[in-house]
Amino acid sequence: MESRSKSISRRTALKASGLVAAGTALGMSLPAVAEAADAAKSADADQCVYDTIVIGAGLAGLTAARELRKKGRKVLVIEARNRIGGRTWTDTFNDYEIERGGAWVDPKQPHVWRELSRYALPIVADAGPERVLMPTLSGFAEFDPITAYTRQGELFTPFFDGATNYFPKPYQPFTREDLVTPLDGVTLRDRLNQLAFAPQDEIRMTSTTALYGAPSTRGALTQLAQWWALSGWNYEGFAGINTYRMQGGTKSLANAILADGAPHLVLNSPVSSVTQKNGQVKVLTRTGVTYTATEVIMAVPVNVWKKITFSPALPTAYRDATTQGYGVPRQKKLWLDLTNPTDRFIAEAPEGYGITIMGRMNDNAPVVAFTVDPTLDVTSHAQVEAAVKQIMPQASLRSFTVTDWQAEEFSLGGPAFRQPYQLTRLHRAISQPFGKVKFAGDDLALGWSGYMDGAIESGLRVAGSPTLSPLPAAAPNNRGLVGPEADRRIYRSMIGL
Ligand SMILES: Cc1cc2nc3c(=O)[nH]c(=O)nc-3n(C[C@H](O)[C@H](O)[C@H](O)COP(=O)(O)OP(=O)(O)OC[C@H]3O[C@@H](n4cnc5c(N)ncnc54)[C@H](O)[C@@H]3O)c2cc1C
Repeated sequence: MESRSKSISRRTALKASGLVAAGTALGMSLPAVAEAADAAKSADADQCVYDTIVIGAGLAGLTAARELRKKGRKVLVIEARNRIGGRTWTDTFNDYEIERGGAWVDPKQPHVWRELSRYALPIVADAGPERVLMPTLSGFAEFDPITAYTRQGELFTPFFDGATNYFPKPYQPFTREDLVTPLDGVTLRDRLNQLAFAPQDEIRMTSTTALYGAPSTRGALTQLAQWWALSGWNYEGFAGINTYRMQGGTKSLANAILADGAPHLVLNSPVSSVTQKNGQVKVLTRTGVTYTATEVIMAVPVNVWKKITFSPALPTAYRDATTQGYGVPRQKKLWLDLTNPTDRFIAEAPEGYGITIMGRMNDNAPVVAFTVDPTLDVTSHAQVEAAVKQIMPQASLRSFTVTDWQAEEFSLGGPAFRQPYQLTRLHRAISQPFGKVKFAGDDLALGWSGYMDGAIESGLRVAGSPTLSPLPAAAPNNRGLVGPEADRRIYRSMIGL
């Protein structure tokens, strides 16, 4: 009898805190669920003071929680959604496993790559396109991939001229702050204007600048140029980072980090306020539960800070950052079931098209597509099909699924992509702790901001664990333009906008 009542109260506690969902949704092992049960009991009684509460169970928060657990800390992770992973989200569409958010990883991204090797998570390479559609002044033209991307390399290399000088150490973006500061006001559009490409060349570049800048007039050149530097300062490295995926999906990584750290976890618990008082931090959820810790790590996107009440209020730099936004606005990722065409292709469209880029990467896979067009109604089959036909008039859409990352209330945007002056004027300020509250997330990475790697890097840093900062394998040659003379020559031309 006694054991029966014990088990009932335990189940009740689990349900109250959302922990049943955690255990079943993740397929957690029994010890992990039992640990979660302890958290629930403590949480219900509001008696437990944690060493650290991590808000947000994306890759940054899960990494920070694991690192702190390895150091013997008592850690609670509070997650708003009914799942972990945040802007990574493995799902299915027509029985095919898809990623609604982050998908690709690369050996040039050392933090995420090390995690894959640590947990022995297998990697698969996409087969890649058999043909590439690129815009011309009179419609779309078809190329073989080598021809298409050789030309893209010729176009993008001058776009990043000088990057070896202003980002000589890609993981230390302030090494040449004297060069980066004036450049940080330059948008992707400014840079296109400055280089004055021939119209038939420029339209081949705006798929990239529109996708990340969303639109090109919004995104900072220094963000894209830092990715270029991190990729080895060359087009091959830059274009190659979208090749490899986790065979078990990104959920396999999130689950592995969670299981390894085994922090207490509550799902379905959006945090509404964070209050610092008397050397402690109290975290209140919308479900009405208060948790207490000696420190809090905010591992939610910068874009959602504005939805949480901080007491005392966050200083100006943090408020400016969340008002301006870091996560790419308007970004929606679609998966399309096209009855035609059925081969493997990539199509890049100029800025202003409904769909920015789309492609089938593997045989018999659905087509993945991205849009940043605020006027495209992605709930409308007719509009989505029309957007596809704008690029491939013969295409026929059977069904589709979409994730609107701007509309997702716990993201309010896609991956991080900085705007002008956010690197030099805000980054350092908002990476600092505010009292007992620390900050993490891909937005705050020193390296691959906007990528899983950056989220993990930031989670390591906030937990006081070492990060990696290798120099890319390729030597910085950038067409031989290195050294002080190149600095002067390239730089003078770049800031002369
Ligand atoms: C469409 C798209 C494509 C991408 N493609 C790639 C790619 O191919 N490769 C790559 O490496 N990266 C890619 N990324 C980026 C990558 O997914 C992110 O950089 C990374 O997942 C961010 O992790 P994070 O932990 O910093 O933030 P998040 O994953 O956003 O985690 C934050 C967590 O906080 C939670 N949260 C928010 N508000 C609250 C609250 N009030 N209370 C409690 N919890 C809260 C959220 O639910 C979420 O779980 C892509 C992203 C998107 C959206």
